[in-house]
Formats: sequence, C-alpha cells, structure tokens
Amino acid sequence: MSVAARKYFEPGPLPVLKNRIDPARLAFDLDGVFADTLHLFLEIARRDFRVHGIRYEDITCYDLEACLDMDPGIIEAVLQQILEGTHTYPLKPMEDAPRVILRMLQEYPPVLFVTARADPRPVQRWMEGLFGKKAQDIEIVATGTYDNKAGVLLDYDRTYFLEDRLETCFALDAAGVTPIVYRQPWNRAPHPFAEVGSWQEVLSLVAG
Ligand SMILES: [Mg+2]
Repeated sequence: MSVAARKYFEPGPLPVLKNRIDPARLAFDLDGVFADTLHLFLEIARRDFRVHGIRYEDITCYDLEACLDMDPGIIEAVLQQILEGTHTYPLKPMEDAPRVILRMLQEYPPVLFVTARADPRPVQRWMEGLFGKKAQDIEIVATGTYDNKAGVLLDYDRTYFLEDRLETCFALDAAGVTPIVYRQPWNRAPHPFAEVGSWQEVLSLVAG
C-alpha cells in the first residue's frame, strides 16, 4: 500500500482491495459530498434573506437549527429552495468532484448516487447540466430518509459509501456497508471510519 493510501486506512480494519477500493463497489452521497450544498445554503441565506455573519465553519452539526443562530423559518425556506431546485444562485460541485466522477463514468459505469432527498429530479437535471449525455450513466436513488440508504446500497452491491453525515455512517457500518467520511465541519465528532477531505483523495482511493 502506498504511503498516501495507508494514511486513510489507519487506524482500524478499513477497506482495501489491491491497495484501493474497488470502484465498482463504491457509491456516493450527494449533498455535502459531491454537491457543495451548504455553501449554496449560506449564499441563499445571505442574498435572499439578508442573513449575515454565518460562516461555513459555523455549521458544526447536521441539524442546522441546532447549530446556527438563524431563524428556523428562514432555514426551512432556504432548504426548500435547494430541495425543489428553485434557487437562483447555482449549486456547485465540490472542487475536483466532476473530474473524478467523469473518470468513473468512463471506466466504471454506471455511477451510483444515493441521497436522502425525496425528489431526485432537481439533481438529475443538475447532473445533466454538468455531464451532458454522460449523465445517462449516472443513477440517482432518492430514498426520502437516511435509514433506507443501506438497503439500497446492498441491493446494488455497493459496499463502500462516501457520506458526510456521521449518524448515517454508523448505520451503514452496522448494516454491512463500509462508510468513508467526507470531512466537513459538521462531522468532526470522533469516529472509527476512513476519511477523505477532498476529491483528489477520493481519486487516490479508487485509482490506487
Ligand atoms: Mg450528505
């Protein structure tokens, strides 16, 4: 195993197949992992609702009402724009993420995303904007709840999942899916899982 790869797999009994994760067994969460959703959240809050002074680093928990000094009604209104795809500011992918997904589309199609969103259509349209015709090899399963992710992943024979919500990571692990934590300010509690902080690191996991 390379020094770079070893860094991500210590400590603990972590997933390696020939020095890397088998890309055909890997799937991805959307919001907070592939999509830079929380930067969009802050931009909508700032520009549409005049909420100022909240930094990305202030989002220290997944329950936004619990960690942000922000009117719950505004939080809900901003989230509604994002979930319905009605926002006027663009949702951006994480840096380097499209490049890595494009490579996986070329080498290991189809690419599977599993989201707890209820309606996949806004993100399907967004993917078509990003990847054009290649988006036909992207499958997005919207479970509607966090609890259903493991069942979907096992049905698709995907045993590794890149996820930013720690509670989901623990549930996946219990169900036999190996989580990989995508590092964010809201998942800094201790956990035993492998972790990445960029899509460059994701690429090193799948490309060896
Ligand atoms: Mg997420």
